[in-house]
Amino acid sequence: MSQAALNRDRTRSANPWRGDFPVFADASLVYLDSAASAQKPAVVLEAMREFAAHSYANIHRGVYRLSEQATAAYEGARGKVRAFLGAASAREIVFTRGATEAVNLVANSFARPRLGPGDEILITHMEHHANIVPWQMVCGQTGATLKVAPVTDTGEVDLDAFAALLGEQTRLAAFAHVSNALGTVNPVQEMTALAHAHGVPVLIDGAQAVPHLPVDVRGIGCDFYVFSGHKLYGPDGIGALYGKAEHLEAMPPWQGGGDMILSVSFDKTLYAEAPQKFEAGTPHITGAVGLGAAIDYLEGIGWDAITAHQQELQAYAAEVLGGIGGLKLVGTAARRAGLFSFVIDGIHPHDVGTFLAAENIAVRSGHHCAQPVMERFGVPATTRASLGLYNTRSDVDALAAALRRMKEFFGA
Ligand code: PLP
Repeated sequence: MSQAALNRDRTRSANPWRGDFPVFADASLVYLDSAASAQKPAVVLEAMREFAAHSYANIHRGVYRLSEQATAAYEGARGKVRAFLGAASAREIVFTRGATEAVNLVANSFARPRLGPGDEILITHMEHHANIVPWQMVCGQTGATLKVAPVTDTGEVDLDAFAALLGEQTRLAAFAHVSNALGTVNPVQEMTALAHAHGVPVLIDGAQAVPHLPVDVRGIGCDFYVFSGHKLYGPDGIGALYGKAEHLEAMPPWQGGGDMILSVSFDKTLYAEAPQKFEAGTPHITGAVGLGAAIDYLEGIGWDAITAHQQELQAYAAEVLGGIGGLKLVGTAARRAGLFSFVIDGIHPHDVGTFLAAENIAVRSGHHCAQPVMERFGVPATTRASLGLYNTRSDVDALAAALRRMKEFFGA
C-alpha cells in the first residue's frame, strides 16, 4: 500500500454510520464501488449468523419448531420487502437471486408467451446488460424485435423518442430507475404513464435506485420492479421481483421443482399460487433474512437522513471532481444519484483504476455491463466512483488527491 494511503487522514466524525460496517476496520480503505456491491453493516451479518446458528431449517414443509421459525423469518423478510417497495401484498413479492434473475423471470414467464413476429419490447440506450440480454433472448426465440429509446448528450432518456416508439406492437417497456453507468435518475412515473397510455406494461430495473431513493411501486404505477440485495447493504444471491398480483397470478411458472407445487403425479402437476410457484427449490433462506435485516437497518436510519447525506456528498464530489483538469463526466443529467462516471484525458480508465487500487481506493473501471451506452458516448470504458452511506468528504478528497498525483505520474 502506498504511503499516501497509510498517511491518509481518517477523521470521519461527520459520518454516524461508517462505524456500523466492519470492513472499515481497515482505516485506509476508500470504498467507492457501492454501485457494484455495497458493504454490509454488522447488524446484517449478525442477523444472518444468528439465524443460521439458531433458527435454521428448510422452510414451508417441516412441522417442527425450527422449520416454523425459519418459515416465519423467510416470510417475514418478504413482508419487509413488500413494505419497502410499497406493494399492496406480500404475494406480489417473489424472491430471486437478484435483479438479473428477476428480469429473466419476467422475460420468460410474462413476455415470451405474449410475443410473436412483429411484436416489440422497448428498452432504453442506457440499460445494464441485465435489462438488455434477457429481452434479446426472448426476441430471438419468438421473432419479436427489441426497440431502443435514445438518450440525450447529458444522459437522459429522450422522452419524445421514447413515447414515439410506444405503439400497437409494443408488448412491454423495460427501463432503469437509475442508470448504473451514468447515474441518471429516470422519470419513471412519467415513463410508466406514457407506456400505460398505450396499454403497455412496464418493468423497472431498480438495482441502482433502492439504495438511494424511497421507492413506491404503487405510486409509480409500474407492473414489475426488480432489485438485488447486495447493492442495498444486504447479502448477495438474493433479490426480489415485485409484480402486480393480476400479472403474477396469470403467469406460468418458469422453473419447476419442489416447493412450487400443490401436488405432483406423473399425469399432472398442480402449481402453488404466486409467489411460491416462482420459487422452485430451496431458496436462499439466510439471504432473505439478511435482506430483511438490511431493510430494517436502512429504515432505522430513515430516508430523510439517507437522502440528505447523499445529496450533500454528491454536491461536494461534483465540485471537487469538477476542479480536476482534463476530467470529463460521462452523464451530466440534472437528476443523478450516487455515482460519477468519468474519463481523464490521456489516461486509460483501467490505468486509473489500477493507480487508485495501489492507494487502497476502490473504484470500478470498465464498461459497467452497459456497453451500448459506452458506445453512445464514444468511450470504451469509464472510471466510476459510487457513493454509499458510509462515504465521507474525506473519501472524495482522497480520490481527488490521488487523481492529481496520478495525472502528475502519467504527465497528463
Ligand atoms: N441493473 C442494474 C442497473 C445494475 O447496476 C445491475 C448490477 O450492476 C443489475 C441490473 C444486475 O444486478 P445483479 O447482478 O445483482 O443481478
